[in-house]
Amino acid sequence: MSVETIFSKIINREVPADIVYQDDLVTAFRDINPRAPSHILIVPNRYIPTVNDATDSDEAAFGRMFTVARNIAESEGISESGYRLIVNCNKHGGQEVYHIHMHLVGGKPLGPILVG
Ligand code: 5GP
Repeated sequence: MSVETIFSKIINREVPADIVYQDDLVTAFRDINPRAPSHILIVPNRYIPTVNDATDSDEAAFGRMFTVARNIAESEGISESGYRLIVNCNKHGGQEVYHIHMHLVGGKPLGPILVG
């Protein structure tokens, strides 16, 4: 059975987070354990545990995640230097929170895409 995560509570503003953007489809907030000077999570407001659970009706939210990432990168001042967008899925993908989220990380050279 799927159980909603802390991210639903952040989206609903039931627990505190540094929310940098929110609209009808997505919410973006700073990662509690940043791995780079800019580390922001962009999540669909609808509870979707993993990419495996995505449906066609989620395409608008997924598209919005990219345009919001573009805008936040611009406001963080990292558009030109560059950044990485990451979506982890399940155990081998390193997913820890089972509510789809896109990591936006940047502000320093990130090195190779796969480490460890
Ligand atoms: P995942 O490994 O699932 O792709 O990444 C989950 C991310 O969520 C991690 O980078 C972790 O630091 C972040 N995270 C976990 N719990 C919280 C929380 O309560 N608040 C915030 N802002 N970030 C969280």
